[in-house]
Amino acid sequence: MPEPPADLNDPKPDAQPRRQKLKYPGDMYTPQWVRYPGHSKEGFCNDCKPGKWLQLKNSAYWYHKQFFHGISSVSGKMFVPPVETRKFESGDCTEGLCHQCGQWVPIATSKKKNSMLWFRHAHKCHVYIKPKSYPPDGKRR
Ligand SMILES: [Zn+2]
Ligand SMILES: [Zn+2]
Repeated sequence: MPEPPADLNDPKPDAQPRRQKLKYPGDMYTPQWVRYPGHSKEGFCNDCKPGKWLQLKNSAYWYHKQFFHGISSVSGKMFVPPVETRKFESGDCTEGLCHQCGQWVPIATSKKKNSMLWFRHAHKCHVYIKPKSYPPDGKRR
């Protein structure tokens, strides 16, 4: 797992990456590294190679994790993939069957080859249960 490099141009302690705990077991959404305080706080995406800093408060991080990597901010896991996919004979559109609504949803076109369309649908449609968080520090039984 890539670790963020310290920012040597910015000597302020707030600018140095600090480690965060995950919220629950298997949490793929919560950034393990953050930097900067308050509104300028950024999270480190370690699904990117070699990693990427994204703002947390303006939802850049949220957007990136969900629609670029397909990780739900609710479940902390990958969106459930289509049950089935089908390609039209013309070859310029692929659809995926959604387990939640039972509809065929366009997931790729000749112009858009990524899974962004599926992730967008999954975000709007799928119902995920938020896993139970670890108890706050010091209150473990
Ligand atoms: Zn990323
Ligand atoms: Zn659906």
